Amino acid sequence: MPISFDIVTIFPAMVEPVLAAGILGRAIESGTIEARVRDLRDFTTDRHRVVDDVPYGGGPGMVLKAEPIFRALDAIESERRAPLTVILLSPQGARFTQADASRLSRQAHLVLLCGRYEGFDERVRSRVTEELSIGDFVLTGGELPALVVMDAVARLVPGVVGDEQSVAEESFARGLLDYPQYTRPAELVGDPPLRVPEVLLSGHHGEIRRWRKREAIARTLERRPDLLATASLDDEERRILAEMRREG
Ligand code: SAH
Repeated sequence: MPISFDIVTIFPAMVEPVLAAGILGRAIESGTIEARVRDLRDFTTDRHRVVDDVPYGGGPGMVLKAEPIFRALDAIESERRAPLTVILLSPQGARFTQADASRLSRQAHLVLLCGRYEGFDERVRSRVTEELSIGDFVLTGGELPALVVMDAVARLVPGVVGDEQSVAEESFARGLLDYPQYTRPAELVGDPPLRVPEVLLSGHHGEIRRWRKREAIARTLERRPDLLATASLDDEERRILAEMRREG
């Protein structure tokens, strides 16, 4: 069964085009993943399809009402005939990481709740499995965060990204940043000319592999030393890292 996503939003028009393009679009078209965009307004019962209201206690802005969200969750739950995994996007959530993406990619189904305005009526959280933030900044809505989470999760589902190896080796997969990549031409004209590192043109697979390991470790050491504390390195990588640290 393909993993399936339900994205609940008041702006389907913001989400749908993203699901139609690129690797996600192809995965949805081929049925490798499923995605449905639910317009929160479809779950209102009043003539004006109101989804928000003023906050109790006063203060600026509007708050997303709980009932339309509950109705949307009820509808999805009765379609699926199973308890839901509901993810609420919020700057107050736990910081979303590659490890979360990996964990969530093994779920059969995820509901992504996109907030707007000042956020959700707090009681929505009674139906939420987990709350995720995509970083320490505040956006106008949860649509982009929901798409970020969905994209990161979907590309780990087998068959979505063409080359499984690229998913296994990239940044964060083992706690290392990715090594530098080059493509043709071998030299870009300029002063000085920009050349591809010689080793990559050498055809020596063993040397290329070692060079890439060194570069990945050097990069991680320089940019994200915090990752090295929990990285899962092989013996060769551990030796390289120890050497680099010795050399300072
Ligand atoms: N006043 C709220 C923020 C509201 S921002 C608060 O301080 O928590 C409006 C909506 O955008 C949120 O409900 C959430 O769904 C989304 N959003 C904004 N920033 C986000 C972030 N960093 N990660 C995930 N969702 C975010």
